[in-house]
Amino acid sequence: MDRKMSRAAHHRARAIFPGGVNSPVRAFSAVDGEPFLVERGEGATLVDLDGNRYVDFLMCWGALIHGHAHEAVRTAVNEAAGKGTGYGLSCGAEAELGELVCDAFPSINRLRLVNSGTEAVMSAVRLARGYTDRDKVIVFEGCYHGHSDGLLAQGGSGLSTFSIPKSGGVPGSTVEHTLVATYNDPASAERRAEDTGDGLAAVLVEPVAGNMGVVPPEPGFLEGLRELCDRTGAVLIFDEVITGFRVAWGGAQERFGVRPDLTTLGKIIGGGLPVGAFGGRAQIMDRLAPLGDVYQAGTLSGNPVVAAAGAAALRLLRDAAPYARLDDLARALAEGLESAGQSAGLPLRVNRCGSMLTGFHTADRVHDYASAQRADRGRYAAFFRAMLDRGVLLPPSPFESAFLSTAHSPEDVEFAVAAAHDALRSCS
Ligand SMILES: *Cc1c(COP(=O)(O)O)cnc(C)c1O
Repeated sequence: MDRKMSRAAHHRARAIFPGGVNSPVRAFSAVDGEPFLVERGEGATLVDLDGNRYVDFLMCWGALIHGHAHEAVRTAVNEAAGKGTGYGLSCGAEAELGELVCDAFPSINRLRLVNSGTEAVMSAVRLARGYTDRDKVIVFEGCYHGHSDGLLAQGGSGLSTFSIPKSGGVPGSTVEHTLVATYNDPASAERRAEDTGDGLAAVLVEPVAGNMGVVPPEPGFLEGLRELCDRTGAVLIFDEVITGFRVAWGGAQERFGVRPDLTTLGKIIGGGLPVGAFGGRAQIMDRLAPLGDVYQAGTLSGNPVVAAAGAAALRLLRDAAPYARLDDLARALAEGLESAGQSAGLPLRVNRCGSMLTGFHTADRVHDYASAQRADRGRYAAFFRAMLDRGVLLPPSPFESAFLSTAHSPEDVEFAVAAAHDALRSCS
């Protein structure tokens, strides 16, 4: 597959943007690849600058549950843009998006719209701290909650309870209030909670982990976190930036039947435009300015074009209820990938929740960060490149989720499975 134009464009971009990109994973370094640049998206297909076509299982990191350039979303964007692209004042479209979110999530009585998932989680944590008047937050190894300082933490070494920064530029004092527990291990969260004395403000978790590859919650995990928060008075925050409207209309909290105090959203609710939101119990949310003392603001928050696109995307989900069909498509892809692994004699285990899935190149069960990290990165990288050359785009990292959309057909899945058989033979 020839990618001359992409190569030249990426070369130019490297003179302007660090690494040639505006978000690191786009550089394809985790798969030892050369990134292509997108010319356009059509439904389930991406077209690159050289005119190569790919069946897209990245789907803008899960934001595009209706595929690229869906007509209803496009029309909503065009109509909204015709009336102005931003006012910095309240508008009608925001309320429409907000009502759809509150309708889907019974745990959300009040909502605030922001501009990214990062902002949503950062603000939800600030609110939880303000509400409880405590500082400590428990997070889980392998989860991602955006790139705000306090959440770029990793567990300290050995028996240390204190976290250390995961990025340059983050002061140790910023992550000292962030404690890291083990995913799917509620007892580890209990131990971390004890370390805080009476200082636990919040437990923050991806209810289905998507950022160490897909790792679904085991029975008792989310329930255990709910109990911990009930007992300690800490705020339970579900980061549903990926899973909201993805694993069910009402997100992971509907699918697994555990209700958080606060929920963060993003990705799907913007219809592919930049967005985030956080919401929950009125008693907590009403501590936000202008009603309360917890400050949070945004010039472009509740932007009319974003809100119109998001509302159009959510209306489609509400009216078409595509979740059973998405589940069938994703199951077919998961089973096809596993059988391709078997026939090539290479271990490939697929973790899946609804239409999000990851094929881990390992023979072992993946249930937390440590087990995810045992997957073979080199093999994934070779597999990713072989699939790309066969016209299938997977996530450009072994520890990310692939996504199906309502634009994918059973034929797209068959095409990908056939490509996987061929690709895995070439890597074995
Ligand atoms: C993508 C993501 C974020 C960050 O959202 P951005 O819009 O990229 O800032 C936060 N949490 C989770 C679970 C995510 O997947």
